[in-house]
Amino acid sequence: MALIDFEILPVREPVPERDREAILAEPAFGQSFTDHMITLRWSAEKGWHDGRLEPYGPFTLDPATSVFHYGQELFEGMKAYRQDSGSIVLFRPQENAARFNASARRMAMPELPEETFVRALELLVTQDRDWVPTEPGTSLYLRPFLIATQRGLGFTHPSDSYLFCVIASPSAAYFGGGAKPRALTVWLSEDYTRAAPGGTGAAKVGGNYGGSLVASRQATDQGCDQVVWLDSAERTWVEEMGGMNLFFVHTPRNSRPRIMTPALTGTLLPGITRDSLLRLAPTLGIGAEEGRISTGQWRAECASGELTEVFACGTAAVMAPVGTVRGVHGGWTVGDGEPGPITLCLRDELLGIQYGLRPDPFGWIHKVC
Ligand SMILES: *Cc1c(COP(=O)(O)O)cnc(C)c1O
Repeated sequence: MALIDFEILPVREPVPERDREAILAEPAFGQSFTDHMITLRWSAEKGWHDGRLEPYGPFTLDPATSVFHYGQELFEGMKAYRQDSGSIVLFRPQENAARFNASARRMAMPELPEETFVRALELLVTQDRDWVPTEPGTSLYLRPFLIATQRGLGFTHPSDSYLFCVIASPSAAYFGGGAKPRALTVWLSEDYTRAAPGGTGAAKVGGNYGGSLVASRQATDQGCDQVVWLDSAERTWVEEMGGMNLFFVHTPRNSRPRIMTPALTGTLLPGITRDSLLRLAPTLGIGAEEGRISTGQWRAECASGELTEVFACGTAAVMAPVGTVRGVHGGWTVGDGEPGPITLCLRDELLGIQYGLRPDPFGWIHKVC
């Protein structure tokens, strides 16, 4: 197959350096965007075509464009990190490419060759490298996405055209960075679920998020930071927290600590941070396994002292400790309600690899420029 290429159309008037520096000094999450974006189109006739690196800016789309009506859409989330050496790197970008295509298959959308996905990211990051912030914990957040662009309200088959786009946003750490992240209070959602067997829970698609906002609002109304999703059938088994995977830390008295995360049953999003921590933990003398845990077990094991820490993980926030749990049947504290030592150790190690402060034994770092 012919290599998919991108035409380079640099912006005539980039954001002035002073304005850019002001944004980079205090980046909010996903509020400011760089000078450029990637676009690439797909049609049944031509396949992937018209790849461009072009000035960041709005699209003009017909109001009858299918994505507005039927939500045929998917996205990815990843970061470019500025390492101490000055190099800018990506973290496991092939994993994002593979998950992008897994989501595409679920949504009956065209797959993008993995090398084209990675190439698009490299082009954008290289072009906008001055937008990668330098402060510890900051990064350039990258948002690749794919939308259905067929015009018309008929709904008998998937769209016959699509638009792939990548935008980039300088970002600080989510939920506060620094050496010690704030512990979150979470709400066990029993009124709403995120995903059901056979649904789209394992795909990174906008609809999963749109449908979750009402539960997030309920969590906020209850004084909580985030919502914890339970399984749809029994409302018993813990699945995820908001848009992040969850880990449970057991510290038995006479043996090594271990981390456990809910197994990928088809209703959970297979996080790349999740996978990285499952691999990284054993190299630090921490056991790692996939399993399952009910809300009842969570509460009982916190009471008995076996379950000492809980944390959520994902690209945007990296790792967020869970300090307090609340639900309609009451609440409890995890450990002493503060970030625990296993959470902080794993977080340090993972951030160390991403920022080039630690060796990269798994070859996860992908140098861009
Ligand atoms: C993106 C996402 C995650 C985390 O995935 P990472 O690859 O670690 O960023 C977890 N859960 C949901 C629902 C997500 O959308």
